Amino acid sequence: MLPLVALVGRPNVGKSTLFNALTRSRDALVHDAPGVTRDRHYGVCRLNAERPFVVVDTGGIAGEDEGLAGATARQARAAAEEADLVLMIVDGREGTSGLDDDILRWLRKLAKPTLLVVNKTDGIDVRAALADFARYGIDPMLPVSSAHRTGLDTLLANVLARLPEHGQASLPDDDPERIRIAFVGRPNVGKSTLVNRILGEERVIASDVPGTTRDSIAIDLERDGRKYRLIDTAGLRRRSRVEEVVEKFSAVKTLQAIEQCQVAVLMLDASEGVTDQDATVLGAILDAGRALVIALNKWDGRSEYERQQAEALADRKLAFVDWAERVRISALHGSGLRELFRAIHHAHASATREFGTAEVTRALEAAYAANPPPVVRGHVAKLRFAHPGGSSPPTFVVHGTRLRTLSQSYQRYLENFFRKRFKLVGTPIRFVFKEGS
Ligand code: GDP
Ligand code: GDP
Repeated sequence: MLPLVALVGRPNVGKSTLFNALTRSRDALVHDAPGVTRDRHYGVCRLNAERPFVVVDTGGIAGEDEGLAGATARQARAAAEEADLVLMIVDGREGTSGLDDDILRWLRKLAKPTLLVVNKTDGIDVRAALADFARYGIDPMLPVSSAHRTGLDTLLANVLARLPEHGQASLPDDDPERIRIAFVGRPNVGKSTLVNRILGEERVIASDVPGTTRDSIAIDLERDGRKYRLIDTAGLRRRSRVEEVVEKFSAVKTLQAIEQCQVAVLMLDASEGVTDQDATVLGAILDAGRALVIALNKWDGRSEYERQQAEALADRKLAFVDWAERVRISALHGSGLRELFRAIHHAHASATREFGTAEVTRALEAAYAANPPPVVRGHVAKLRFAHPGGSSPPTFVVHGTRLRTLSQSYQRYLENFFRKRFKLVGTPIRFVFKEGS
């Protein structure tokens, strides 16, 4: 499971600015993709790619900013109680305040590992600012400027030093043949109906993964001789267990499930189109670089006209991920499952495919020959050679000069070219550009 870090602090100290600095995807192609949105309160920090963690901005979760009062306060408390680490954010320009004192008293009772982050230290006397907060007795105090992204490296190092190592053995992964799947989507799209349906099939042999805790239920299953592990998002099966607390944290569970899976099945309700919440889940899948299958659920009982409407809407809203296979299913009746599992296999095979250096460089040469990068302000990027840089998602490292001048549209061109040439379906692909030869 990904560790959880909660940002706590009074309004206006810069929590959401820090949240963005920590969680914004650095891949502009992914981040600015049309049709993709991001949760403003729950995100994954990948500044250290090896050790991602979930960040919760506890401010304004309930939509209002009233400090630690009312619903906001309850959400903030619940998030901090669940967290492995709390970052208390204060404003280095304004110094200590009564509200900070209140928060601090509450944090003391909570007795969680806590770091004091002194924000807005750009252009001020940092020593003086820190001296003011020393009386809080939280060690260490970390000066940052979220707006200017300074101090983040030290902050990150201090955070990681206090978090459990990612990927510890709660879900031991033994079997390379086993495909890890997560069914994700907003509430009521039919996730638990689907899982129950799959588990109820005669051909399925299922077992709980031993050693999984109450919070992380995974189910191993065999279907038609193939092995899968279903990663739970929020009490997929034992619905009686799904209480308010779990529901509240389904955003965290979703992020964690996406992280643990190899193939994410984004479930949509065919009758409701693609909502903002769907687009947010999609954003999280793309940020994580996971293989993707789109399942249009509740396909039963629709007229031909309604089906066409649903398809057209999905075409439009999901144009950016047109590389993902789309299957129409009815979790209720169990129809479309064969197509669903076939798509999962395609996506998994593409995501984990191994490439040789020669074929990757040849692909780059072919892409270049067919359409060289345009001249930008008198300069033109040169693409020299490429080699594979890993799988899940397939990554290609391109070496050359003036690569900074490569436009987003040219990067998209390369992506599409590689995708076609290597017949990659159902997986994002990434390029890493390295200046010099
Ligand atoms: P929140 O209410 O705690 O989420 O605070 P916000 O992130 O919305 O920031 C409140 C205000 O402080 C905004 O106007 C930000 O632009 C500003 N701000 C945030 N971080 C910094 C910083 O590092 N330096 C400066 N100078 N301003 C900042
Ligand atoms: P979850 O919150 O995503 O786990 O959604 P549920 O599995 O609890 O389903 C929400 C509602 O949609 C329930 O009333 C289901 O019976 C209904 N539902 C789920 N799948 C289908 C389907 O394929 N067709 C129809 N007509 N209803 C469905």
